[in-house]
Parts: sequence; C-alpha cells; structure tokens
Amino acid sequence: MAEIFYKSMNRRNFIKTGLAAVGALVTINTGCSPGLYKNETKSTRWAFLADTHIPADINNNYRGFFPYLNLQKVIPDIISALPDGVAIAGDLARLTGQLGDYANLKKLFEPIAEKRPVFMALGNHDNRDNFVKIFDKVSGEKQPVRGKHVIVVNKPPTRLIILDSLFYVNKVPGLLGKTQRQWLENYLKECDNTPTILCFHHSLEDGDGDLLDLPRLFSIIKPIRKVKAILYGHSHAYGFSEFEGIHLINLPAVGYNFSDTEPVGWVEAKLTTEGGDFTLHVVAGNKEKDGSVKKLAWRI
Ligand SMILES: [Zn+2]
Repeated sequence: MAEIFYKSMNRRNFIKTGLAAVGALVTINTGCSPGLYKNETKSTRWAFLADTHIPADINNNYRGFFPYLNLQKVIPDIISALPDGVAIAGDLARLTGQLGDYANLKKLFEPIAEKRPVFMALGNHDNRDNFVKIFDKVSGEKQPVRGKHVIVVNKPPTRLIILDSLFYVNKVPGLLGKTQRQWLENYLKECDNTPTILCFHHSLEDGDGDLLDLPRLFSIIKPIRKVKAILYGHSHAYGFSEFEGIHLINLPAVGYNFSDTEPVGWVEAKLTTEGGDFTLHVVAGNKEKDGSVKKLAWRI
C-alpha cells in the first residue's frame, strides 16, 4: 500500500487541506512518538473503498459491471463529500496489475488527489512494481518493511495503518509475512494510544483464499487495546463482525459484486476517539442498504 500524493501533495499539505474544512487545530504526531498525541481534533472523515479493479480497457466488464464506469460514478460523490482522506483496500487493478490499469486509476483519482490524499493498499490482483512505477510520488510515513508497501497515516483523532497482504499476483490467498508482522508488533507497542485502524486487502476467514497468517495477526493485536478496527476487502461483500471487540469491517467492492445480494459502492466514515459512523453509498448491485449508517463504538 502506498500513501499516494500525486500532484506532489506532501504530508504538510494533507494536514493543511485535510483539516481546513473542519477548521480544527491539530497536533501532528510524527510517527511513533509516545506522549505527543493530543486529542485536539474531534473527528475526521474518510472515504473507504475496496476492489476497484480498474482495467486498462475502459470497456472491460464482468458480471455485467463496468469497473471503470463505476469508479467514474463514485468520484464526483467523494468530491462532494470532501472527506479528509481516501483509502482503498486493495485490488486496485483489474487482474494482474498492468501499467495501463494504474494509469487509468491515477487519471480517475486525479480530481480528488488535487484536494485530498489517497492511500492505497495492494491486493492479489495488484503488481507492486507496476504500481510504484505509476504512483511514483509517495510521501507521508512510509515504513521500512522489506518487500512490502506499508504506510502509517497519523490523522488525529485516529491512526490508519496500511498493510500489504499481496502474496502472489493473480493468485487468491494473501500473506502479511513475518517481517511485516514483526514490524507491526513493534510499532504498535511503541506508538502512543491513538485509536488505530488497520487496513489491508485480504478477508478474515480461514479459507485457502483468505489472509493465511490471520491467526498470527490476531494474536498480535488482541492484547493491544489501541487497535480498534480492521478495514478489508477481497470478498466483494459489505459486512461487520468482531474479534475480541475489534471491529472487522468488510468494505464493498467498487468494481463488481460476486453475488446479486451485495451492494457495489463505497463507505463514508466519520471517526472519533470513541468510535465511528459508517455510511454506505451504493452505485450498483443491491441498493437496499444505500444510505444506511452503521455506528460502532471502539473497545476500551
Ligand atoms: Zn477483488
């Protein structure tokens, strides 16, 4: 995952533009700095997306859905909502992470990227090398995790950690891997108690196509109470569950659903130190839950 600031938006601009709208005072927490965090910002708003599956050929379609056109519909909605940041939980590209896929993704997000930072996780249909070639301007708090794209976004009053579960391109399962897990454990132990949300691509079941090292991840985060939620995609389904009080938020796909019962769209979130409101915005698929709001309280 990368923190994408094309148009050379840097972290300072992110903070400036991101918070101008709410007129809040902010203490910038530079990475892992125990004691520096001050809760001076009451809330932050995000657009959370997953599984955009943007193709190089804009007419590419699957199950009657056109991923390029779906994202084209979503972009103006996000711009009008004008959240402080946007995060996409992987499977950015159609199938194999081609340069043309990412070029289209970059083009589609340009109107948002001019105003707000866009952070992207990598999924099993992404290619890390091609991704970095197109999204070459990476700033913010990129973490030194060998072979993985890991970004920390300290955005009071919450922290978002983008992890990288891409294992093999165009094969279904995902893996964080030992290096990344150890980095995460160390980081979480040292950083301050800002409520923290993890974001990565793979789903949290025990199937052969899910996150293969999920039990190890769970054993790391279970006792670390500052971890409040996980955002993920992969299943192309929308849903909420819990593990030890940690909210597991399965984001809907933007590109297409696997089942007619699932919505296709994105989620607008308002996050505070106590919890979050998650509003579903549907552009295709099952529209029954369009506009529905899920309110979550963080574990203490
Ligand atoms: Zn997908």
